[in-house]
Amino acid sequence: MSQEVVTDVVCPFCGSLCDDGEIVVEDGKIVETRNLCTIGTAKFLSAQNGHRIMKPMIRENGELKETTFENAVKKAAEILLKAERPLLYGWASTECDAHRVGCELAEELNAVIDDTSSVCHGPSTIAKQEVGLPACTLGQVKNRADVIVYWGCNPAHAHPRHMARYTTFIRGFFREQGKQDRTLVVIDVRNTDTAKLADHFLQVKPGYDYELFSAFRAAIKGQPIRGEDVGGVPVSKIQEVAEIMKNAGFGVIFFGLGLTMSRGKHRNVENAIKLTIDLNKYAKFVIMAMRGHYNVAGFSIVTGWQTGYPFGIDFQRGYPYYNPGETTSNEILQREEADAVLVIASDPVSHFPASSISYMAKLPVIVIEPHVTPTTEIATVVIPSAISGIEDEGTAYRMDHVPIRLRKVIEPPLGCLPDRKILEAILEEVRKLKSKA
Ligand code: SF4
Repeated sequence: MSQEVVTDVVCPFCGSLCDDGEIVVEDGKIVETRNLCTIGTAKFLSAQNGHRIMKPMIRENGELKETTFENAVKKAAEILLKAERPLLYGWASTECDAHRVGCELAEELNAVIDDTSSVCHGPSTIAKQEVGLPACTLGQVKNRADVIVYWGCNPAHAHPRHMARYTTFIRGFFREQGKQDRTLVVIDVRNTDTAKLADHFLQVKPGYDYELFSAFRAAIKGQPIRGEDVGGVPVSKIQEVAEIMKNAGFGVIFFGLGLTMSRGKHRNVENAIKLTIDLNKYAKFVIMAMRGHYNVAGFSIVTGWQTGYPFGIDFQRGYPYYNPGETTSNEILQREEADAVLVIASDPVSHFPASSISYMAKLPVIVIEPHVTPTTEIATVVIPSAISGIEDEGTAYRMDHVPIRLRKVIEPPLGCLPDRKILEAILEEVRKLKSKA
């Protein structure tokens, strides 16, 4: 029996991209992880769970039947070429070279390419485009921040090591006492496990975040706030926390889907950024989105340099066009425009509204994915892939937009190629078929 411990492994699960993992490999299989949280551990152990797809499949007479890689690629290329409005969706849980090839494929097909941010932090990107973003790295937060605000997010569950590695409990260069040198403020609609750790917890009523940001902006400028509370938060508490923010040596607001997917959406985030800008008249303050999937930030970076746009990019006119709400996946599905869908590194059937899924289920759907998911259940073609960051290396961007190189820890199952190789094969086939037409 051969055993090896692979060190400095990056966890390819959430946007924290923890890079201190140690993975114990025995006879080519992962048997143990060290330093990772339970979610990260589950992701590594999923490499050899019973839900892996081992062979490409094509649906015939209502049933998925095993086929060769070449047949699956040919069928996928035929479906995409035949479609007038193909949609290429997903991308959040794969590496940047797959995004690059995906852009090339979208351009070749005059398709729409969109990632999961259109149903998570897309509104944050729109807000950034409106007013900019006072930003920093997580390393700066670790070493400098003395006021940490989590607003509309629950890292204790969604990013379990975020507080321990980057923000609250870790000792930093200028924060040698760790937690004792920092003040933790949590603002949320629920008393979450993160809120239970806070020095100050402000429970806002659902749908009142925009008003609360405006109240904070008034409070830090010393302007009066009418009434006794704003969104259920007492004015005296708003004024107390506003003073803490104003007197920060280095403050940071982390925000989550509680802002982007509730009433107000990008306007909530815009007001959060404006509050951060206002705070910089008194203190150093920055703001950062709590990105969920590990490389959802990387997709926007890659499409940004390839097309000029961050998500929901439509090549139908022969050049990239972007208009969220028109060129984003759910709207295209709900208008019943798409006539074929390629899904990669994502599971929209588990997350999209029922109206999108019921339309998608009528279409030819190509799924590139290592595991059986609800989306593979509606697929016409399934191509199994290697898991990026476990069975394939590549680059991913952390939530602070720092690029991190993912390590390959084990070999993928025989015949399971990296996402970029599968996409390259489909692109080549599309070009071959086009040249014959
Ligand atoms: Fe992985 Fe996120 Fe957990 Fe870090 S916090 S180990 S990146 S799931």
